[in-house]
Amino acid sequence: MSDDAGLQALRDAARLSPDNLPLRRHLAGQLLAKGYLAEAEAEFRAALMLAPKDLDITAGLAEAFVRQSSHGAALAALEPLLAEPGYPPRFGVLAARALLGEGDTGRAAYRYFEAISRDPSLADADLATRLTPPPAPSYAQPGAQPGAHSGAPLLTNASASATEPESNAEVEYAGLTFADVAGMEAVKEALRIKLLLPLQQPELFAAYGKRAGGGVLLYGPPGAGKTHLARAAAGELGASFVNVGLADILDMYVGSSERNLHATFDMARRNRPCVLFFDEVDALAARRSDMRQAHTRQIVNQFLAELDGVDQSANEGVLVLAATNAPWYVDAAFRRPGRLDQPVFVPPPDQAARAAILRILCRDKPLAEMDFDAVARVTEHFVGADLKGVVDRAVEAKLHQSISAGRPIPLSTPDLLAAAKSLRPTAVREWMATARNYVMHANDSGAWDELMPWVKGKW
Ligand code: ADP
Repeated sequence: MSDDAGLQALRDAARLSPDNLPLRRHLAGQLLAKGYLAEAEAEFRAALMLAPKDLDITAGLAEAFVRQSSHGAALAALEPLLAEPGYPPRFGVLAARALLGEGDTGRAAYRYFEAISRDPSLADADLATRLTPPPAPSYAQPGAQPGAHSGAPLLTNASASATEPESNAEVEYAGLTFADVAGMEAVKEALRIKLLLPLQQPELFAAYGKRAGGGVLLYGPPGAGKTHLARAAAGELGASFVNVGLADILDMYVGSSERNLHATFDMARRNRPCVLFFDEVDALAARRSDMRQAHTRQIVNQFLAELDGVDQSANEGVLVLAATNAPWYVDAAFRRPGRLDQPVFVPPPDQAARAAILRILCRDKPLAEMDFDAVARVTEHFVGADLKGVVDRAVEAKLHQSISAGRPIPLSTPDLLAAAKSLRPTAVREWMATARNYVMHANDSGAWDELMPWVKGKW
């Protein structure tokens, strides 16, 4: 490459007046633009001595590093800037390049999509392609794409990533509180301590060296009320609620799932305080070890990177709750500190809790005098979802009667008893049998100690 006279003149001028910041900055920029990377790096370093906090000079230096493949050095230069809330998005793109160079695709994708969601003009098709695994048409399941939002454009290929990514999840304001959750006093208390108090009284927690943050993993048999609890926790806190079915995300077109996941976290961050609820988190974890599925590994890494939040303030006010029926598939990487590090068992309801759940489920219906305890006694092994089925069936029968009678007939205890008799409880027994296997034979770390008294009971 032949040097040009203008550049040489700039070099000479800078040598004559080394303290002239605008001149040195200009020279460094020109060197970078013309590809004299080592020289540009030296010039940016010299300029930074004159103006240590100058954002443009830092960005120039970082770019010189990235283009020389000194990715670690670039990240070291960028790190203090990225820690500032609202840092200029172009730093995010530079960091994404450096992270990609280091092989940390999950974090790189996080930085990149975060940056272009704030400044779409920074979109870079080449970088986006490298952050997105090649499409695998065989994995596409158009039928499985969340249909409820068919109006939203689905990103189906890498070049589409220049558009701002959309989340398929929706923000809800639940309106439920713990008063709508019957029984489960121990679970509610655990959630109060783990989630609500740290946010409501941060000073108290700080005084004991604890900080708010980290996620809760709700686990237990299907239908026991995990989703219901998470919604109620959001209402209790006055927070918005975002419900994400991870299986839906996984079943999307390759590449779209990462963008959708990032967009979902971002949506929660924009709506803080927010409870971000991931149902079926085992769908991710179970597939993590499947080495054939490179793209599912990628989305898991992205999920973990989003959970970690990249910088301290990223997830402030975002409470992550996840639920699983199969906690034994959720591997250790998910349970590290700051991630889903707080397991809470959501047990099947005992008799008193069943009566309380029935009372809540019936509260807005026309009722005769009710003996909920009698119904609770004959619904052993029924979980919340089963009890809802009982009430729904009884109400349906009552509606038919009311229509033929031409007047509303209130719901009564025999209606519920009849409905209960016609229905079988779902999977609690099988669930307890599986849980027993894990507790008895795979509990070296003591992770399932909490389940011990339950699996020893009669099911
Ligand atoms: P899971 O997420 O554990 O599979 P859900 O939260 O979907 O279970 O529970 C199913 C339904 O059962 C809920 O929509 C709610 O109507 C009812 N339910 C479950 N537990 C309770 C409870 N403790 N109090 C009131 N209703 C409950």
